[in-house]
Amino acid sequence: MKLLEYEAKNILAKYNIPVPSSVLIKSVSQKDIPLPVVLKSQVPTGGRGRAGGVKIIDNQQDLNTAIANLLKLPIKGFLPKTILAEEKMTISHEYYLSLIVDRPSGTVRVMANINGGTEVEDNEADSYINVEVTGKNFDAVGEQLAECYNLPEQTFVLQDLIENLYDCFTSNDATLIEINPLVYTSDNKLIAGDCKMTLDDNAAFRHKWKFEETPAEANFVTLDTNGTIATIANGAGLAMATVDAVHDMGMIPANFLDIGGGANTETLLKAFNRLGEYPNIKAIVINIFAGITRCDEVARAIIAAKRQITELPPLFIRLAGTNFDVAERLLADEHIPILATLEECLAAAKQEVSR
Ligand code: GDP
Ligand code: MN
Repeated sequence: MKLLEYEAKNILAKYNIPVPSSVLIKSVSQKDIPLPVVLKSQVPTGGRGRAGGVKIIDNQQDLNTAIANLLKLPIKGFLPKTILAEEKMTISHEYYLSLIVDRPSGTVRVMANINGGTEVEDNEADSYINVEVTGKNFDAVGEQLAECYNLPEQTFVLQDLIENLYDCFTSNDATLIEINPLVYTSDNKLIAGDCKMTLDDNAAFRHKWKFEETPAEANFVTLDTNGTIATIANGAGLAMATVDAVHDMGMIPANFLDIGGGANTETLLKAFNRLGEYPNIKAIVINIFAGITRCDEVARAIIAAKRQITELPPLFIRLAGTNFDVAERLLADEHIPILATLEECLAAAKQEVSR
């Protein structure tokens, strides 16, 4: 389960990890927001800064318009239900810090970089420190962080931070906590400027989780960001079989996506928008066996997506089941072909990849 920023930061705060003070905004008419303020769209995706989802507001006149605009602005297909209004920090530097589960070695690792923030993709892979944190080596890891960040005077602070973060990570069964940026303020404080947190769904029985629902996201799994084939299917079994079939044909599936029973235009648009984040996608394979889902609903969503997203890779569609005849007519009117079998879709996708 992927948490929204405000949910993740609420958890961090419980573990004494400094976060900016904040108010959660649910409507334009919200009162008593201290200025200046940073408004942040609460969507389950990163890159909000670049997409216009983070706004620094200095005066009352701009505040209401900015909130209204943010609530209307979709980011990578996601519309926010809430806006996080945070105290504006004066930033002297932005660092990168994350904790992840390394599955092959069964360890928790810390990754850190002296450069964080929105340009983090520009960092060379070998510029990160990547060390194991065990629950017994906080002092050593804190020292390594201080060295990495070139902040020797903050060694004690970083040792405490990593201890608290590790406690937060393990107590909540997290698989990822990413703090980017970890802000160093002009008055020499280290504060979590942003947080991405993913909790392990398999551990849900141990917790009483109650978070804002982020649909479609839950059933979307990135397999390989360099993958060439995107997949969309309904039902976890069919979605897995589709991914396997792509792989068996010698292509690299980028993702697993189960759009579930109630696939509508909104869910599909979100999916298409997310797939747009992968640089190497050559084709999208859609494999729907409609029972509760209706073929005509899926067809309408595909048509809407084709109209709204300008640079959509070619679609190879296999549809069967409820209301197939309606779907066939709708798609034919738009000159969007349906293929009879998944094998045909994969063969066509393979041609597209080798072009
Ligand atoms: P993301 O783009 O979705 O990762 O959103 P972030 O929460 O990381 O914000 C993006 C960028 O906005 C940060 O890297 C900062 O440069 C900037 N930003 C966020 N909060 C503040 C703030 O309080 N003060 C200032 N000056 N900049 C901020
Ligand atoms: Mn960020």
